[in-house]
Amino acid sequence: MNGGKRDFPERFQNTVGKPLDFSVRLSDYSHFKIGGEADYFFCARSPHELKKAITLAREFSLYHTIMGGGYNLLFEDEGFRGLVIKNQVEKIDRQDKELIRCASGSLLKDVLEWCAEHELGGLEFMAGIPGTVGGAVYGNAGAFDEEIGDRVVEAVLYDKSDKDVRISREYFSFDYRYSSLKKRPDVVLEVILRVEECRRSQIEANIAKNMEWRTKRHPPWDIACAGSFFQNPVSLEGKKIAAAQLLDRVGAKGLREGDAMVYDGHANFIINRGHACASDVMSLASELKRRVKEEFGIDLKYEVIHVPARPPSR
Ligand SMILES: Cc1cc2nc3c(=O)[nH]c(=O)nc-3n(C[C@H](O)[C@H](O)[C@H](O)COP(=O)(O)OP(=O)(O)OC[C@H]3O[C@@H](n4cnc5c(N)ncnc54)[C@H](O)[C@@H]3O)c2cc1C
Repeated sequence: MNGGKRDFPERFQNTVGKPLDFSVRLSDYSHFKIGGEADYFFCARSPHELKKAITLAREFSLYHTIMGGGYNLLFEDEGFRGLVIKNQVEKIDRQDKELIRCASGSLLKDVLEWCAEHELGGLEFMAGIPGTVGGAVYGNAGAFDEEIGDRVVEAVLYDKSDKDVRISREYFSFDYRYSSLKKRPDVVLEVILRVEECRRSQIEANIAKNMEWRTKRHPPWDIACAGSFFQNPVSLEGKKIAAAQLLDRVGAKGLREGDAMVYDGHANFIINRGHACASDVMSLASELKRRVKEEFGIDLKYEVIHVPARPPSR
Protein backbone atom coordinates (compact mmCIF):
# COMPACT_ATOMS: atom_id res chain seq x y z
CA MET A 1 0.00 0.00 0.00
CA ASN A 2 1.40 3.38 -0.90
CA GLY A 3 -0.13 6.84 -0.95
CA GLY A 4 -1.34 7.20 2.65
CA LYS A 5 0.37 7.81 5.95
CA ARG A 6 0.50 4.66 8.00
CA ASP A 7 -1.89 5.60 10.77
CA PHE A 8 -4.51 7.06 8.40
CA PRO A 9 -6.81 3.99 8.48
CA GLU A 10 -6.86 3.86 12.27
CA ARG A 11 -7.46 7.58 12.62
CA PHE A 12 -10.19 7.28 9.99
CA GLN A 13 -11.97 4.56 11.95
CA ASN A 14 -11.72 6.59 15.17
CA THR A 15 -12.80 9.89 13.62
CA VAL A 16 -15.42 8.85 11.10
CA GLY A 17 -16.70 5.91 13.13
CA LYS A 18 -16.51 3.45 10.22
CA PRO A 19 -13.68 1.52 8.59
CA LEU A 20 -12.12 2.27 5.23
CA ASP A 21 -12.15 -0.25 2.40
CA PHE A 22 -8.76 -1.13 0.94
CA SER A 23 -7.65 -1.89 -2.62
CA VAL A 24 -11.09 -1.44 -4.13
CA ARG A 25 -11.54 -1.97 -7.88
CA LEU A 26 -12.80 1.30 -9.33
CA SER A 27 -14.17 -0.48 -12.39
CA ASP A 28 -16.92 -1.74 -10.07
CA TYR A 29 -17.90 1.86 -9.30
CA SER A 30 -17.75 3.49 -12.71
CA HIS A 31 -20.36 3.10 -15.44
CA PHE A 32 -17.46 2.80 -17.89
CA LYS A 33 -16.40 -0.35 -15.97
CA ILE A 34 -12.80 0.85 -16.16
CA GLY A 35 -10.26 1.58 -13.43
CA GLY A 36 -7.68 -0.18 -11.29
CA GLU A 37 -7.64 -0.27 -7.51
CA ALA A 38 -8.02 2.68 -5.15
CA ASP A 39 -5.76 2.37 -2.12
CA TYR A 40 -8.63 3.53 0.09
CA PHE A 41 -12.35 3.74 -0.61
CA PHE A 42 -15.23 4.96 1.51
CA CYS A 43 -18.98 5.32 0.95
CA ALA A 44 -20.22 8.31 2.96
CA ARG A 45 -23.86 7.94 3.99
CA SER A 46 -24.30 11.00 6.24
CA PRO A 47 -23.06 14.61 6.12
CA HIS A 48 -20.97 13.82 9.22
CA GLU A 49 -19.19 10.92 7.47
CA LEU A 50 -18.68 12.92 4.28
CA LYS A 51 -17.20 15.94 6.04
CA LYS A 52 -15.03 13.98 8.46
CA ALA A 53 -13.60 11.88 5.63
CA ILE A 54 -12.67 14.99 3.64
CA THR A 55 -11.23 16.81 6.65
CA LEU A 56 -9.08 13.86 7.63
CA ALA A 57 -7.74 13.35 4.11
CA ARG A 58 -6.85 17.04 4.04
CA GLU A 59 -5.20 16.80 7.46
CA PHE A 60 -3.03 13.92 6.23
CA SER A 61 -2.37 15.67 2.89
CA LEU A 62 -3.68 12.47 1.33
CA TYR A 63 -4.63 12.59 -2.34
CA HIS A 64 -8.41 12.24 -2.44
CA THR A 65 -11.43 12.76 -4.65
CA ILE A 66 -15.18 12.71 -4.33
CA MET A 67 -17.45 10.83 -6.68
CA GLY A 68 -21.21 10.65 -7.07
CA GLY A 69 -22.65 7.91 -9.27
CA GLY A 70 -19.47 7.51 -11.36
CA TYR A 71 -21.39 8.11 -14.62
CA ASN A 72 -19.04 10.71 -16.06
CA LEU A 73 -15.69 9.35 -14.92
CA LEU A 74 -12.73 7.66 -16.53
CA PHE A 75 -10.48 6.19 -13.85
CA GLU A 76 -6.99 5.10 -14.79
CA ASP A 77 -5.87 1.48 -15.21
CA GLU A 78 -3.42 2.17 -12.39
CA GLY A 79 -6.32 3.06 -10.09
CA PHE A 80 -6.04 5.81 -7.50
CA ARG A 81 -3.14 6.31 -5.06
CA GLY A 82 -5.20 7.77 -2.26
CA LEU A 83 -8.80 7.91 -1.02
CA VAL A 84 -11.92 7.86 -3.19
CA ILE A 85 -15.01 9.04 -1.31
CA LYS A 86 -18.33 7.98 -2.79
CA ASN A 87 -21.09 10.36 -1.80
CA GLN A 88 -24.27 8.51 -0.84
CA VAL A 89 -25.79 11.20 1.35
CA GLU A 90 -29.38 11.24 0.17
CA LYS A 91 -32.31 13.39 1.25
CA ILE A 92 -34.98 15.34 -0.58
CA ASP A 93 -37.48 17.68 1.05
CA ARG A 94 -39.47 20.81 0.49
CA GLN A 95 -37.89 24.09 1.47
CA ASP A 96 -40.73 26.32 0.35
CA LYS A 97 -43.76 26.26 -1.95
CA GLU A 98 -41.63 26.08 -5.10
CA LEU A 99 -38.20 25.25 -3.71
CA ILE A 100 -36.82 21.81 -2.93
CA ARG A 101 -33.71 20.90 -0.96
CA CYS A 102 -31.59 17.95 -2.07
CA ALA A 103 -28.62 16.40 -0.31
CA SER A 104 -25.84 16.21 -2.90
CA GLY A 105 -25.75 12.41 -3.02
CA SER A 106 -29.44 12.17 -3.96
CA LEU A 107 -29.92 10.48 -7.32
CA LEU A 108 -31.45 12.64 -10.06
CA LYS A 109 -33.96 9.89 -10.78
CA ASP A 110 -35.11 9.92 -7.13
CA VAL A 111 -35.42 13.72 -7.24
CA LEU A 112 -37.65 13.39 -10.31
CA GLU A 113 -39.77 10.69 -8.69
CA TRP A 114 -40.12 12.77 -5.54
CA CYS A 115 -41.12 15.81 -7.60
CA ALA A 116 -43.75 13.84 -9.51
CA GLU A 117 -45.22 12.57 -6.22
CA HIS A 118 -45.36 16.11 -4.87
CA GLU A 119 -46.66 17.58 -8.15
CA LEU A 120 -43.61 19.79 -8.67
CA GLY A 121 -42.35 20.17 -12.23
CA GLY A 122 -39.55 21.85 -14.13
CA LEU A 123 -36.80 19.24 -13.75
CA GLU A 124 -38.07 16.72 -16.29
CA PHE A 125 -35.28 17.66 -18.74
CA MET A 126 -33.02 15.66 -16.39
CA ALA A 127 -34.96 12.43 -16.96
CA GLY A 128 -32.45 9.80 -17.99
CA ILE A 129 -29.34 11.75 -16.92
CA PRO A 130 -27.77 9.28 -14.50
CA GLY A 131 -25.98 10.33 -11.34
CA THR A 132 -26.28 12.50 -8.27
CA VAL A 133 -27.27 16.11 -7.67
CA GLY A 134 -23.65 16.94 -6.67
CA GLY A 135 -22.20 15.47 -9.87
CA ALA A 136 -24.84 17.27 -11.95
CA VAL A 137 -24.07 20.64 -10.35
CA TYR A 138 -20.31 20.08 -10.75
CA GLY A 139 -20.64 19.66 -14.53
CA ASN A 140 -23.85 21.68 -14.98
CA ALA A 141 -25.55 18.64 -16.46
CA GLY A 142 -28.29 19.25 -18.95
CA ALA A 143 -30.35 18.19 -21.91
CA PHE A 144 -32.88 19.69 -24.32
CA ASP A 145 -31.34 23.19 -23.95
CA GLU A 146 -31.88 23.20 -20.18
CA GLU A 147 -29.25 22.81 -17.46
CA ILE A 148 -29.40 22.12 -13.75
CA GLY A 149 -27.63 25.46 -13.18
CA ASP A 150 -30.80 27.25 -14.42
CA ARG A 151 -32.62 25.71 -11.46
CA VAL A 152 -30.07 26.19 -8.69
CA VAL A 153 -31.08 28.91 -6.23
CA GLU A 154 -28.47 28.32 -3.55
CA ALA A 155 -26.29 25.59 -2.11
CA VAL A 156 -24.31 24.60 0.94
CA LEU A 157 -20.67 23.76 0.26
CA TYR A 158 -17.97 22.27 2.42
CA ASP A 159 -15.19 24.69 1.61
CA LYS A 160 -11.43 24.37 1.63
CA SER A 161 -11.28 25.54 5.28
CA ASP A 162 -13.59 22.70 6.36
CA LYS A 163 -16.53 25.05 6.90
CA ASP A 164 -20.14 24.81 5.72
CA VAL A 165 -20.88 27.88 3.62
CA ARG A 166 -24.22 28.85 2.10
CA ILE A 167 -23.75 30.39 -1.31
CA SER A 168 -26.06 31.66 -4.02
CA ARG A 169 -26.24 30.56 -7.64
CA GLU A 170 -23.82 33.24 -8.89
CA TYR A 171 -20.95 31.54 -7.08
CA PHE A 172 -21.03 28.69 -9.59
CA SER A 173 -20.58 30.85 -12.76
CA PHE A 174 -22.55 28.17 -14.61
CA ASP A 175 -21.84 27.74 -18.30
CA TYR A 176 -22.13 24.89 -20.79
CA ARG A 177 -20.95 21.79 -18.81
CA TYR A 178 -19.10 24.13 -16.49
CA SER A 179 -19.32 25.29 -12.88
CA SER A 180 -16.70 27.05 -10.79
CA LEU A 181 -16.38 23.79 -8.79
CA LYS A 182 -14.07 22.65 -11.59
CA LYS A 183 -11.56 25.19 -10.29
CA ARG A 184 -12.15 24.89 -6.55
CA PRO A 185 -11.83 22.16 -3.94
CA ASP A 186 -15.36 22.82 -2.58
CA VAL A 187 -17.66 19.87 -2.05
CA VAL A 188 -21.39 20.32 -2.55
CA LEU A 189 -23.40 19.23 0.51
CA GLU A 190 -26.89 20.33 -0.45
CA VAL A 191 -28.61 22.23 -3.21
CA ILE A 192 -31.84 24.25 -3.32
CA LEU A 193 -33.60 23.89 -6.67
CA ARG A 194 -36.45 25.97 -8.08
CA VAL A 195 -39.49 23.98 -9.24
CA GLU A 196 -43.07 24.81 -10.27
CA GLU A 197 -46.42 23.37 -9.30
CA CYS A 198 -47.49 20.97 -12.02
CA ARG A 199 -49.91 18.06 -12.36
CA ARG A 200 -48.35 14.65 -11.79
CA SER A 201 -49.76 13.31 -15.07
CA GLN A 202 -48.08 16.17 -16.96
CA ILE A 203 -44.71 15.56 -15.23
CA GLU A 204 -44.90 11.85 -15.99
CA ALA A 205 -45.77 12.54 -19.63
CA ASN A 206 -42.75 14.91 -19.94
CA ILE A 207 -40.48 12.30 -18.40
CA ALA A 208 -41.77 9.56 -20.70
CA LYS A 209 -41.25 11.78 -23.77
CA ASN A 210 -37.66 12.61 -22.80
CA MET A 211 -36.87 9.00 -21.98
CA GLU A 212 -38.20 7.88 -25.34
CA TRP A 213 -35.92 10.39 -27.10
CA ARG A 214 -32.92 9.00 -25.21
CA THR A 215 -33.77 5.36 -25.74
CA LYS A 216 -33.67 5.96 -29.49
CA ARG A 217 -30.24 7.62 -29.46
CA HIS A 218 -28.17 6.53 -26.48
CA PRO A 219 -26.64 3.13 -25.77
CA PRO A 220 -28.86 0.83 -23.67
CA TRP A 221 -28.19 0.80 -19.92
CA ASP A 222 -26.23 -2.41 -19.93
CA ILE A 223 -23.56 -0.93 -22.22
CA ALA A 224 -20.62 0.50 -20.30
CA CYS A 225 -19.82 4.14 -21.15
CA ALA A 226 -19.55 7.54 -19.49
CA GLY A 227 -22.07 9.54 -21.51
CA SER A 228 -21.10 11.87 -24.34
CA PHE A 229 -17.35 11.72 -24.62
CA PHE A 230 -16.74 15.21 -26.06
CA GLN A 231 -18.44 18.53 -25.42
CA ASN A 232 -20.28 20.12 -28.31
CA PRO A 233 -17.95 22.81 -29.67
CA VAL A 234 -19.23 26.35 -30.12
CA SER A 235 -18.74 28.15 -33.46
CA LEU A 236 -17.23 31.64 -33.75
CA GLU A 237 -20.80 32.94 -34.06
CA GLY A 238 -21.65 31.32 -30.71
CA LYS A 239 -23.68 28.42 -32.18
CA LYS A 240 -23.31 24.95 -30.67
CA ILE A 241 -22.17 22.30 -33.15
CA ALA A 242 -23.05 18.66 -32.39
CA ALA A 243 -19.77 16.83 -31.77
CA ALA A 244 -21.53 13.64 -32.93
CA GLN A 245 -22.08 15.12 -36.40
CA LEU A 246 -18.41 16.11 -36.76
CA LEU A 247 -17.39 12.65 -35.58
CA ASP A 248 -19.78 11.01 -38.02
CA ARG A 249 -18.23 12.95 -40.86
CA VAL A 250 -14.71 11.76 -40.02
CA GLY A 251 -15.83 8.12 -40.03
CA ALA A 252 -15.78 7.62 -36.25
CA LYS A 253 -18.54 5.00 -35.98
CA GLY A 254 -17.13 1.52 -35.59
CA LEU A 255 -13.56 2.71 -34.89
CA ARG A 256 -12.03 0.77 -32.02
CA GLU A 257 -8.94 0.37 -29.92
CA GLY A 258 -8.87 -2.89 -27.99
CA ASP A 259 -12.32 -3.20 -26.41
CA ALA A 260 -13.00 0.56 -26.57
CA MET A 261 -15.25 1.35 -29.49
CA VAL A 262 -17.27 4.22 -30.93
CA TYR A 263 -20.95 3.29 -30.49
CA ASP A 264 -22.73 2.46 -33.75
CA GLY A 265 -25.82 4.42 -32.83
CA HIS A 266 -24.13 7.68 -31.73
CA ALA A 267 -20.62 8.76 -32.69
CA ASN A 268 -20.06 10.79 -29.49
CA PHE A 269 -20.27 7.74 -27.21
CA ILE A 270 -17.21 5.60 -26.60
CA ILE A 271 -18.30 2.26 -25.19
CA ASN A 272 -16.46 -0.49 -23.35
CA ARG A 273 -17.18 -3.81 -25.03
CA GLY A 274 -15.96 -5.79 -22.05
CA HIS A 275 -12.30 -5.42 -21.21
CA ALA A 276 -11.36 -1.92 -22.38
CA CYS A 277 -8.56 -0.17 -20.49
CA ALA A 278 -8.37 3.55 -19.85
CA SER A 279 -5.39 3.62 -22.20
CA ASP A 280 -7.52 2.11 -25.02
CA VAL A 281 -10.17 4.77 -24.46
CA MET A 282 -7.61 7.58 -24.43
CA SER A 283 -5.89 6.46 -27.61
CA LEU A 284 -9.23 6.08 -29.41
CA ALA A 285 -10.24 9.54 -28.15
CA SER A 286 -6.94 11.02 -29.39
CA GLU A 287 -7.53 9.56 -32.83
CA LEU A 288 -11.04 11.04 -32.90
CA LYS A 289 -9.71 14.43 -31.81
CA ARG A 290 -6.98 14.27 -34.43
CA ARG A 291 -9.42 13.51 -37.24
CA VAL A 292 -11.81 16.32 -36.27
CA LYS A 293 -8.94 18.80 -35.93
CA GLU A 294 -7.53 17.80 -39.32
CA GLU A 295 -10.88 17.94 -41.12
CA PHE A 296 -12.54 20.93 -39.44
CA GLY A 297 -9.77 22.73 -37.50
CA ILE A 298 -11.83 22.23 -34.30
CA ASP A 299 -10.31 21.14 -30.98
CA LEU A 300 -12.79 18.83 -29.28
CA LYS A 301 -12.79 19.06 -25.47
CA TYR A 302 -13.48 16.12 -23.21
CA GLU A 303 -16.83 16.03 -21.42
CA VAL A 304 -15.85 12.81 -19.66
CA ILE A 305 -13.76 13.51 -16.56
CA HIS A 306 -10.43 11.76 -16.43
CA VAL A 307 -9.38 11.01 -12.82
CA PRO A 308 -5.58 10.87 -12.54
CA ALA A 309 -4.13 8.04 -10.44
CA ARG A 310 -1.77 10.49 -8.74
CA PRO A 311 -2.04 14.16 -7.90
CA PRO A 312 -1.13 16.26 -10.93
CA SER A 313 2.41 17.63 -10.41
CA ARG A 314 2.51 21.38 -9.97
C1 LIG B 1 -25.85 6.87 -20.61
C2 LIG B 1 -25.45 8.22 -20.10
C3 LIG B 1 -26.16 9.35 -20.52
C4 LIG B 1 -25.77 10.62 -20.06
N1 LIG B 1 -26.49 11.73 -20.48
C5 LIG B 1 -26.13 12.95 -20.05
C6 LIG B 1 -26.86 14.12 -20.47
O1 LIG B 1 -27.83 14.05 -21.21
N2 LIG B 1 -26.44 15.32 -20.00
C7 LIG B 1 -25.38 15.46 -19.16
O2 LIG B 1 -25.06 16.58 -18.77
N3 LIG B 1 -24.68 14.37 -18.75
C8 LIG B 1 -25.02 13.14 -19.17
N4 LIG B 1 -24.31 12.03 -18.76
C9 LIG B 1 -23.14 12.20 -17.88
C10 LIG B 1 -23.45 12.09 -16.36
O3 LIG B 1 -24.67 11.46 -16.16
C11 LIG B 1 -23.47 13.47 -15.73
O4 LIG B 1 -22.23 14.09 -15.91
C12 LIG B 1 -23.81 13.40 -14.23
O5 LIG B 1 -24.02 14.70 -13.77
C13 LIG B 1 -22.70 12.72 -13.43
O6 LIG B 1 -23.12 12.63 -12.07
P1 LIG B 1 -22.39 11.63 -11.08
O7 LIG B 1 -23.04 11.75 -9.76
O8 LIG B 1 -22.33 10.28 -11.68
O9 LIG B 1 -20.95 12.28 -11.01
P2 LIG B 1 -19.48 11.53 -11.11
O10 LIG B 1 -19.40 11.00 -12.49
O11 LIG B 1 -19.40 10.56 -9.99
O12 LIG B 1 -18.55 12.73 -10.87
C14 LIG B 1 -18.45 13.77 -11.83
C15 LIG B 1 -17.63 14.93 -11.23
O13 LIG B 1 -18.40 15.57 -10.24
C16 LIG B 1 -17.62 15.74 -9.05
N5 LIG B 1 -18.55 15.65 -7.93
C17 LIG B 1 -19.45 14.67 -7.68
N6 LIG B 1 -20.14 14.94 -6.56
C18 LIG B 1 -19.67 16.11 -6.08
C19 LIG B 1 -19.98 16.92 -4.94
N7 LIG B 1 -20.92 16.58 -4.05
N8 LIG B 1 -19.29 18.08 -4.77
C20 LIG B 1 -18.32 18.45 -5.66
N9 LIG B 1 -17.98 17.73 -6.74
C21 LIG B 1 -18.66 16.58 -6.97
C22 LIG B 1 -16.63 14.58 -9.09
O14 LIG B 1 -15.48 14.86 -8.31
C23 LIG B 1 -16.32 14.48 -10.57
O15 LIG B 1 -15.29 15.40 -10.91
C24 LIG B 1 -24.67 10.76 -19.18
C25 LIG B 1 -23.97 9.61 -18.76
C26 LIG B 1 -24.35 8.35 -19.20
C27 LIG B 1 -23.60 7.15 -18.72
